[in-house]
Amino acid sequence: KTWVKMFKKPGKGLKKSYQPGSMMSLALTKGLMNEPGQNSCFLNSAVQVLWQLDIFRRSLRHLSGHFCLGDSCIFCALKSIFSQFQQSRERVLPSDSLRNALAETFKDEQRFQLGLMDDAAECFFRRTSWRGIHLHIVSDPSTDTCSSKSCITHQKFAMMLYEQFVCRCCGASSDPHPFTEFVHYVSTTALCQQVDRMLGKNRPDMFGELLQAANSTGDLRSCPSDCGQSIKIRRVLLNCPEIVTIGFVWDSEQSDLTDDVIWSLGPRLNLCGLFNCVSDENAKRCELHLVGICFSSKHYSAFAYHTKSSKWMFFDDATVKEIGSKWKDVALKCIRGHFQPLLLFYTNPEGSPVSNEDAPRQTTMCPRYKAQVNGDATVCYYGFPSLLNPHPSSPNSWKS
Ligand SMILES: [Zn+2]
Ligand SMILES: [Zn+2]
Ligand SMILES: [Zn+2]
Repeated sequence: KTWVKMFKKPGKGLKKSYQPGSMMSLALTKGLMNEPGQNSCFLNSAVQVLWQLDIFRRSLRHLSGHFCLGDSCIFCALKSIFSQFQQSRERVLPSDSLRNALAETFKDEQRFQLGLMDDAAECFFRRTSWRGIHLHIVSDPSTDTCSSKSCITHQKFAMMLYEQFVCRCCGASSDPHPFTEFVHYVSTTALCQQVDRMLGKNRPDMFGELLQAANSTGDLRSCPSDCGQSIKIRRVLLNCPEIVTIGFVWDSEQSDLTDDVIWSLGPRLNLCGLFNCVSDENAKRCELHLVGICFSSKHYSAFAYHTKSSKWMFFDDATVKEIGSKWKDVALKCIRGHFQPLLLFYTNPEGSPVSNEDAPRQTTMCPRYKAQVNGDATVCYYGFPSLLNPHPSSPNSWKS
């Protein structure tokens, strides 16, 4: 690790050394504006990663009909930014439309309000990219039984799991507990403890195993039949998610574990390593690639892998920079900048966009939007049709 230390210059922020516009040769990579006071960096870094996720970008391109919330429609705002990424000649684009849609959608909950920094990239994914996209496509607020082939959320991001305690000694087991996960959270403290325990035997291709070990630390229970054994939890993956998101939980905002965490990251992830058992045959075989990372420590930025050029890119609001083709290039940059990784995105390189065969054929304006126009404040939170009226009789056709 000595070569790492040579590059480490504590206290020196990276921000000043950027040269905006130094690498604009790559088509389709653009910066996103963050004017003083806007505090949109969390949103910008999340959008950049979403745009670089080939499966997500192509899926969204396929879809146009949706349940629309008008001015506060996250689906429309995301589509609009994505089409500007594709078509605009500007090097830096505004992300206001999405910022406004978020502020409008979460107005009642005091989240994502304009000018306020939020805790955020993670929240953005959870609340909007996942819950939001599902609602805009399926309009059914129950997210556990979604079988829509066009729902990006459930078709691509969801991990269907169950967990159970099984005693190796007497065979007794607890009732299986099924659940759906969109982010697989791991404590960085537990992760570093496992790295220490492996005493240098940790290999980059064992990252899944490392995460599993960190995740089951302390998860011991006594045997359900009281045989006296303490047993570990067993997590079983039932489907084959093409995008897997790992979320890091940090004990403090300025952790001294940052470097150790960066060095432990593996650019590949095997689902068989990550979970105790994988039942889907494709999931057993596939190896996912690290393609995006969101960082935070007061300011949000992101790295994402640009498939067409086979290069890692760094995104920090208006600044877009080419980093290099190897994972090591990214790791070094993280170490130098003391970046605390928050979310890791792994994708199946053979993943495909969602099918749109059962997607909404047209765009339907939702009651919430109409109610707002009429000044009626009594309509509930997401006013999607199924919440108020399962079969809207006069869907308002609307083209974006
Ligand atoms: Zn819309
Ligand atoms: Zn869904
Ligand atoms: Zn037992």
